[in-house]
Amino acid sequence: IISIQNLTKSYGSTAVLKGVNLEVKKGEVVAIIGPSGSGKSTMLRCINAMEKITGGDILFNGKSIANMKNLPELRKDIGMVFQHFNLFPHMTVLKNVMYAPVTVRKEPRDHAQQYAMKLLKKVDMYSKMDVYPSTLSGGQKQRVAIARALAMKPEILLFDEPTSALDPEMVGEVLAVMKELAKTGMTMIVVTHEMGFAREVANKVAFMDEGIVMEEGTPEEVFDKTSNERVKAFLAKML
Ligand code: ATP
Ligand code: MG
Repeated sequence: IISIQNLTKSYGSTAVLKGVNLEVKKGEVVAIIGPSGSGKSTMLRCINAMEKITGGDILFNGKSIANMKNLPELRKDIGMVFQHFNLFPHMTVLKNVMYAPVTVRKEPRDHAQQYAMKLLKKVDMYSKMDVYPSTLSGGQKQRVAIARALAMKPEILLFDEPTSALDPEMVGEVLAVMKELAKTGMTMIVVTHEMGFAREVANKVAFMDEGIVMEEGTPEEVFDKTSNERVKAFLAKML
């Protein structure tokens, strides 16, 4: 569904991505790990076209993102969940989830509302649909953010450290929702420091360092069998 081919991205003279290659198949969960500054967030932003690519290409269902004219159209199909939730503070939980389907996809309100309520049930936030985000815990906000991303019926969901801003006791509830999502066959790319989640849920783990995917494989290959010293050093620090 996604094929990243020799992707480069520079800011001025600073090369951040230096030839990233990565394949993501439909239904796969790919965990991206790696040190701070290695380009993980930049890569995700290139995939949903929040950043313009400098070189190489990303194919989405075989179509080149580099040459794509209609980027809003692309973003409908690629959902993103951020570290800091980015919910609309002046809208209730339900309105947050309905907003994009109604304004961007032009869905009828009652239809969007039915679907939003269904999604809020799925992330166990149904009872909070009429409250404002400021009254929610971090874990609750993030579950609403996941429902909001799902409301657009994306073909793939990108997560950028979805649990990094959460208090430890809330990490589990968000990972549980993500795990359920993975079980339903959702295609997901997850930048995460949660090695347990990566090991248990991911089909593939990619280690990024210095702007490239330095190592990739099954969780077992990357966590248990790697001979790459940089991967080993990184994992040792994570434990
Ligand atoms: P972290 O684990 O800390 O989130 P990351 O792997 O997500 O790190 P990126 O956020 O992709 O890393 O950043 C990679 C590099 O690109 C960093 O050195 C950063 O300073 C630089 N960078 C990112 N965005 C910009 C920008 N808009 N302008 C200039 N430099 C940027
Ligand atoms: Mg980042």
